[in-house]
Amino acid sequence: MKILVTNDDGIYSPGLAALAKIASRFGEVKIVAPDVEQSSMGHAITASRPLSYKKSPIVFEGIDAYKVNGTPADCVALGQHLWDKPDVVLSGINMGPNLGNAMWHSGTLAAAKQAVLFGMKGIALSTPAGDIEPDFELLDPFVEKALALLFKNPHLNLVNVNFPTKPTGVRWTRQSVRLYDNRIEPGLDPMGRKHYWFINIPLEPAEEGTDRWAVENGFVSITPLRLDLTNEAELVKAQLAYPIV
Ligand code: MN
Repeated sequence: MKILVTNDDGIYSPGLAALAKIASRFGEVKIVAPDVEQSSMGHAITASRPLSYKKSPIVFEGIDAYKVNGTPADCVALGQHLWDKPDVVLSGINMGPNLGNAMWHSGTLAAAKQAVLFGMKGIALSTPAGDIEPDFELLDPFVEKALALLFKNPHLNLVNVNFPTKPTGVRWTRQSVRLYDNRIEPGLDPMGRKHYWFINIPLEPAEEGTDRWAVENGFVSITPLRLDLTNEAELVKAQLAYPIV
């Protein structure tokens, strides 16, 4: 199995090194990752300037690593071109969760989505990273277990996986879509000039069975996703209410 590993935190992230090390137990691994952090860039692609890549001086235990002057989606595009279509793209391990509505902004998940657009399997992996750095040694067996589970299922082609700080088990979950407080918080910089933070805070507790609930309760959250955004129920209703003849 050919495994392309990327992320949105940049090639020097410890989460990327941890993931590449674990992935190498399942097949041949190459790393193609952004040269600088691209978190919250979503599914952006670089279309107005050329892309280039350089071999990274960082040695990942014999794994070839390349850094790209672009986004996570660019890395997947360039990676599959340079490596004649890998079987799977792993993105992460992101330093920060990608749960609920955060999926819309996630560069980590965008790389997995881009893999699916190219006809490959795409798996995004994330873990909280607050004041204390994630303990990737502790997460290692849980990451390996999740990958083993997802690699053997040919129908799960797009999956979002989140690891709590100290996992106690694994749960299949759905995306939490409860109301979020997306707002602009104004403030003043040290020079007295106005500035703004775009903040995104869940307003309600997570429902049982969702990705947020799982991670809050110490479980590894595995959410199967799809790229088809069609609202099937509303499509049927619209066709009945406004038939086009
Ligand atoms: Mn990130």
